[in-house]
Amino acid sequence: MLASFDVIVVGGGLSGLMAGLTAAGRGHSVAVLDRNAGVGGKYCYTSMGAAALTNTGMDLSRFHGRDARFVSDALREFDAPALRGWFDGHGVQLADADYYGLVCPPSGGEAVSALVEALESSGAELRTECNVTSIEPGSDGFRIEAGESLTARSVILATGGSNLPQLGGGEDGYRLAGALGHHCEPAHAAHVGVTVGESWPTTLAGLWMDVELNLSVAGKPLKDAGTTGSMLFTRAGLTGEAVFNISRQVEPNLGRGVELQVNFHPGMEFDDVAQWLHRVFGERTREPSDRAIDFILPASLGGVFLAHQKVKPGARVMQLHERQRQGLLKEMTDTRLTVTGTLGMRAAESCTGGVQLRQVDPRTFRSKLVPGLYVVGRLLDISADWGGFEQHFSLASGRAAGLSVLQ
Ligand SMILES: Cc1cc2nc3c(=O)[nH]c(=O)nc-3n(C[C@H](O)[C@H](O)[C@H](O)COP(=O)(O)OP(=O)(O)OC[C@H]3O[C@@H](n4cnc5c(N)ncnc54)[C@H](O)[C@@H]3O)c2cc1C
Repeated sequence: MLASFDVIVVGGGLSGLMAGLTAAGRGHSVAVLDRNAGVGGKYCYTSMGAAALTNTGMDLSRFHGRDARFVSDALREFDAPALRGWFDGHGVQLADADYYGLVCPPSGGEAVSALVEALESSGAELRTECNVTSIEPGSDGFRIEAGESLTARSVILATGGSNLPQLGGGEDGYRLAGALGHHCEPAHAAHVGVTVGESWPTTLAGLWMDVELNLSVAGKPLKDAGTTGSMLFTRAGLTGEAVFNISRQVEPNLGRGVELQVNFHPGMEFDDVAQWLHRVFGERTREPSDRAIDFILPASLGGVFLAHQKVKPGARVMQLHERQRQGLLKEMTDTRLTVTGTLGMRAAESCTGGVQLRQVDPRTFRSKLVPGLYVVGRLLDISADWGGFEQHFSLASGRAAGLSVLQ
């Protein structure tokens, strides 16, 4: 006999767990299936020491893509206070981290455990190592192949994005949604480091700086591709929060002359930086320029810029030519780097692309093409800044689908 459920949720990441426990809480028989041995999906791997679930700067402007307003209903219905309240009510207190606006549980594991406990006490079944290979719609529901055959009146697709294939990501969600008639926008790596053609940045590996970044293509600034935040130089490329936030625009534009403009003095007017340089150099005319520049830039970066301006090692400030001072000022505020790519899907913390938004209702996450089908979380064609925004949307969309399924 086939195992039958009212609702089958495919994927046990944040969106799938929240969808499953919400639907089961409304009295439906629910199974959440995940192909991995553990649940929690990509959230289990969130980095920089903090597993953010939302952000103090939560706002629509932090979402990007073809229709960023798509997220607004779900986020209004399950806003930051409601999200904090849900975790608080399940014994996990979220706290504001003192960086990047992150709002985090004491550990990601505690947040996932709270979701799993809530799922289990709602009566839903959680099946791991259960890889869904096909979903066939029928006259009164769906037949799901996952090693065994299952049936459900409704299916919630929550398979996440195609980044990190080595950790459970991949094209499965796109393939399953595509076989059901949905169109998926192509995926590109996001929240990922970028590579540049110049070799000097690799010599600064380990240096963190606050910067303003802007991407341009063939000399024209790209829309929605400017940001201010931290950047880390590594041997493989540039990474860090600010780089993550512009990275989603790199792959779609490769081959068209992608350039990264870096301002190493974010938040300062050009004239103020010029005056600062003038004053620092004016007070240190007899000092070696590589020591004087240390008052304006980290010494390692200052040394690179002095070398670019062909300043001889040990040359005193008063020996600098006006052309060299202007060259330094330009590099401090307007360094241009040739972007050659990203560190790829295996390194990307998120991705763009996914199920086309106009095929899904933004209030209920019900498919407009397939009766009884719902699509939630990162499988949808939305993208957001780094810092907990996608996690919040994943939970909010899962909840909205769980509330409306079989209504
Ligand atoms: C290191 C890291 C840091 C991140 N940092 C941020 C951040 O700061 N800000 C931000 O907004 N986002 C960030 N993200 C992204 C964010 O975590 C995800 O967008 C979000 O958790 C997606 O949740 P989801 O439930 O939609 O999908 P996922 O978490 O991807 O879950 C999908 C689940 O579906 C399962 N699955 C897939 N296919 C099948 C199948 N065929 N059968 C059964 N199960 C299947 C997978 O095993 C997985 O468990 C980060 C991600 C990582 C990895």
